Amino acid sequence: MTVGQGQFSDEGHSTMTEYQGRIVLGEDTVAELADRIGGSVFAPEDAGYAEAVAGFNSRSRQRPCLVVAAAGAADVRTAVAFAAARDLPVGVMATGHQPFPAADDFLLVTTRAMRTVEIDAERGVARVAAGALWSDVVEPAQAEGLAPLNGSSPLVGVVGFTLGGGLSPFLGRSHGWAADHVVAIEVVTPDGELRRVSPELEPELFWGLRGGRSNFGIVTELEIRLFPVTSFYGGGIYFPADNVEAVVRAFPEVVRDAPNTFTCSVALLNFPPVPEIPEPLRGRFLAHVRVTHLGSDEEAEKLIAPFRAIGEGILDTIGRHPYGAFPIVHTDPADPFPYEEQGALLAELPAQAVDSLVESAQLAAGGLLTVLEIRQLGGALADRPVAASPIAARDAEFNVWGATVGPPEVVDAGMAMLGGMVERLSPWSTGLAYTNFAGRDDRAENVFTADDLERLRVLKRHYDPRNLFRVNNHNVAPE
Ligand SMILES: Cc1cc2nc3c(=O)[nH]c(=O)nc-3n(C[C@H](O)[C@H](O)[C@H](O)COP(=O)(O)OP(=O)(O)OC[C@H]3O[C@@H](n4cnc5c(N)ncnc54)[C@H](O)[C@@H]3O)c2cc1C
Repeated sequence: MTVGQGQFSDEGHSTMTEYQGRIVLGEDTVAELADRIGGSVFAPEDAGYAEAVAGFNSRSRQRPCLVVAAAGAADVRTAVAFAAARDLPVGVMATGHQPFPAADDFLLVTTRAMRTVEIDAERGVARVAAGALWSDVVEPAQAEGLAPLNGSSPLVGVVGFTLGGGLSPFLGRSHGWAADHVVAIEVVTPDGELRRVSPELEPELFWGLRGGRSNFGIVTELEIRLFPVTSFYGGGIYFPADNVEAVVRAFPEVVRDAPNTFTCSVALLNFPPVPEIPEPLRGRFLAHVRVTHLGSDEEAEKLIAPFRAIGEGILDTIGRHPYGAFPIVHTDPADPFPYEEQGALLAELPAQAVDSLVESAQLAAGGLLTVLEIRQLGGALADRPVAASPIAARDAEFNVWGATVGPPEVVDAGMAMLGGMVERLSPWSTGLAYTNFAGRDDRAENVFTADDLERLRVLKRHYDPRNLFRVNNHNVAPE
């Protein structure tokens, strides 16, 4: 049955059919698009399709009816115009670090091939193409004595991270959200136009993009601010299972009066017994203390004294490091794996909340949950710059987040346990989650304040009234 007939351009018509409940694009249609794309186009039956849709989270299940692996902004424009002409929903993926809810029958634009980064040291700005990873930015920025507001993993995409708010565990508490330090954005909006937006050019769209992710289009390039930072004092200490409760109880003491130059988080980890995990950590339940300090070594040591008082730790990487060594702090995994996650924002962490975390730690020791972490927010992350981007996490003091890894039955049981832990923390929750750590709850109401959501809806009605951009983006429905 033919369900759609779209005119892609001024010349050429093509077919779109439905087969067994799935949208199928005719060979003529795919060929017409492929002719206009500098990168690659994959239909589900093509050899490269599975690789093209695969992301870092191998549990994500997405079955687009077409993938455009864009080589540049022109390809993004072509792909969006093609989708708009057929009323096809559009999704975008750089690395696939964000868990992808099940999604079928849409056009997926991947930006992996767009990794150009240019550093303008004089302006203290990096121009970053849509598919660049943090490792692509940190290295050339450091060559100029500068650092971006990057996240814990060198492999996360700059654009996805920044459009979700962008919590840097290194420079966030001293400088604020990455989204608040975007200088300009180039974006292909649902009408297929490539626009440059900034505080002066289409300021409302500039506001909404920096938190609204792909609700308003596909960003092809970001200009982000860099800061003069070349080293930090920090790293991680892994404590054995016996010390987990003491570490959880020391955390609030350490962070209570910490300066903005100091950032700390604690992760409770169940490391699997696999060769990729180094021997002292393999197959163990541990508490991982992560620290970054931009002040003196002595001041940092004074701040972490309550952790030091607990014991030596199994592995300790705390010391002065060049900024480029940032992955040493969180030691995030490099290879794809199947996981689910959930997060919650806490307004405060009183003694009862710490008791609840200790109780969760005891449950986590059973092994179902792979990681449960608490990060301190606050400092410059609580600031409201002029035209502050729509980030609900600026109203919170802490972010709690957990994840489970493994086959479906393990993940399902682990998520049920994690849901219970988050529920028990609800008396201290702000009621919202931080976009980048929200996990499976993909509702816009879960990550935006009511006021921001209302304003985002107005913007959505203007730029995407048909809600074509509704895949994996905490969709802001126009109505
Ligand atoms: C190991 C690990 C460590 C992490 N550490 C941090 C951290 O320290 N701080 C933090 O804030 N977050 C962190 N995150 C979360 C991460 O920032 C989010 O998952 C983010 O969405 C990943 O962006 P991505 O482009 O790599 O992923 P993708 O899954 O490719 O993209 C995620 C979403 O971003 C949007 N997007 C991507 N590219 C574009 C584009 N060109 N135009 C418009 N929208 C786009 C889309 O909505 C897309 O669905 C971490 C995640 C992992 C797995």
